[in-house]
Amino acid sequence: MDCLFCKLIEGTIPSKKVFENDRILAFHDIAPAAPVHILIIPKKHIATMNDVTEEDDALIAELFTVARQIAKEQGIAESGYRLVNNCNSEGGQVVYHLHIHLLGGHQMKALAD
Ligand code: C5P
Repeated sequence: MDCLFCKLIEGTIPSKKVFENDRILAFHDIAPAAPVHILIIPKKHIATMNDVTEEDDALIAELFTVARQIAKEQGIAESGYRLVNNCNSEGGQVVYHLHIHLLGGHQMKALAD
């Protein structure tokens, strides 16, 4: 399968890892959109949020657990942060392997602004 993030998981393409266990990898985004910009991904290849099934419930919950933990470690838990998932073309998804963006470290605008 020709998936960039699967190659990061395999280690055939390097990444700046911040967390890894048997199910999840988190690494610094290569083109950060905020002072802290970390991607949290399942090791299981799931293309988009639309492809998540009930069988993935525990995995999805763990992605958020890891996001909270990393936010604390990065020192942005109290000041605040944003978690984003882009789904499909109009959602701005570029890499078709499920990921959550953890963004923080500066003031963000409300989405309505
Ligand atoms: O949600 P979306 O698919 O647009 O996000 C993909 C993200 O993957 C981008 O923020 C991009 O900078 C990041 N990326 C990366 N390392 C790569 C290729 C893309 O961190 N080698």
